[in-house]
Amino acid sequence: MISKRTIRDLGDPEVRGKRALVRVDFNVPLDESGTVTDDTRIRAALPTIDALVAKGARVVLVSHLGRPKAKPEAKFSLAPVAKRLAELTKQPVRFVPALDSDEAVAATQALRAGEILLLENTRFNAGEEKNDDALAKSLARLGDLYVNDAFGAAHRAHASTEGVAKHLKPAVAGLLMERELEYLGAALSDPKRPFIAILGGAKISGKIDVIEALLPKVDGLLVGGAMANTFYKAMGLETGKSLVEPDRVELAKSLLDRAAYRLTLPHDAVVAPALDQPAAAHAVKRDGIPPNEAMFDIGPETVQSYARAIAAAKTILWNGPMGVFETPPFDAGTTAVARAMAEATANGATTIVGGGDSAAAVTDAGLETRMSHVSTGGGASLEFLEGKPLPGVEALEDRR
Ligand code: ADP
Ligand code: MG
Repeated sequence: MISKRTIRDLGDPEVRGKRALVRVDFNVPLDESGTVTDDTRIRAALPTIDALVAKGARVVLVSHLGRPKAKPEAKFSLAPVAKRLAELTKQPVRFVPALDSDEAVAATQALRAGEILLLENTRFNAGEEKNDDALAKSLARLGDLYVNDAFGAAHRAHASTEGVAKHLKPAVAGLLMERELEYLGAALSDPKRPFIAILGGAKISGKIDVIEALLPKVDGLLVGGAMANTFYKAMGLETGKSLVEPDRVELAKSLLDRAAYRLTLPHDAVVAPALDQPAAAHAVKRDGIPPNEAMFDIGPETVQSYARAIAAAKTILWNGPMGVFETPPFDAGTTAVARAMAEATANGATTIVGGGDSAAAVTDAGLETRMSHVSTGGGASLEFLEGKPLPGVEALEDRR
């Protein structure tokens, strides 16, 4: 159970007929014609929206989308999202291209119980990312209670994720937020053991704090992705043309000195002269990377041993692809890990995927529903795993 109040803790009088201002994460990709190309994040917010509608709330949704430069830009409008949301909820969704104006307030007041309104991109307003208190106050006029369901934006102290909670109570977590915090929180504080973490991706630099935070908690940490190269370098191995972070080699050395027994590096690798020469891909032992080739994936032996480790674990946390999964055949390691995790889930293990690219890889492989939890927040899940407080969560009311 999380320490924050959630919408499930609200009594009927706190919700029925009230305007629920819900911060959602509708930061979805749109194509040229303004059509939502991936509605995962919209669907992830449905349990909260449905629950509020069922409780007779008047639902007012706010979100950011993309990175507009603190002013309205048509290509970042949430209008297409309202359309998609209406299809998914099978009820009309009113869209009002306003946020902190009297027009927006009037639109919220015109809502009837069970109706849904979506307002315009919070980042069209310069005060959003500055967590401007005047904006936070005017956002507070849009509701009678505040619900934060935007886990993916909870690591940012913005006006709609943090500031507004100071001015609008009750301030509670939505069901997606609750689910994210429950899964990630349980892995950190009370994992079923053995507990292993699999870390990959492009850079060691972005994940170093996660490695440091997880090492004392896990029974094993398996490394993949380009990150492995920096460790190889630290071990004195040839890394060829692989992506290495020279300024992190010392750090990799110190991690190996301190925690070599818990840290597993790929035994072999799939290499090629260049990414655009996939036909030349071949597997080598880790001490056999040719000087004129680069490592683009973990090798078949590593796949086998990581799959065995996954099958033996009770909690598996995965962040970061094992290779350049965007370019076959260098997706093999990533797909194999995803499959092994799906099997582990079926055998009773708790499997958690965090990280934008890893989540995309799991979805591409069609294995999304076969994980215990796929986090909707890349950056937020990383910061949570690093042990950092998330401002958007901190601002909510504690459970009584
Ligand atoms: P996530 O979003 O899951 O946290 P990252 O953003 O850290 O993952 O890293 C994903 C990127 O890492 C992918 O674009 C992938 O191509 C790249 N990558 C993985 N392995 C390698 C490698 N061996 N060489 C170069 N890039 C790699
Ligand atoms: Mg990424």
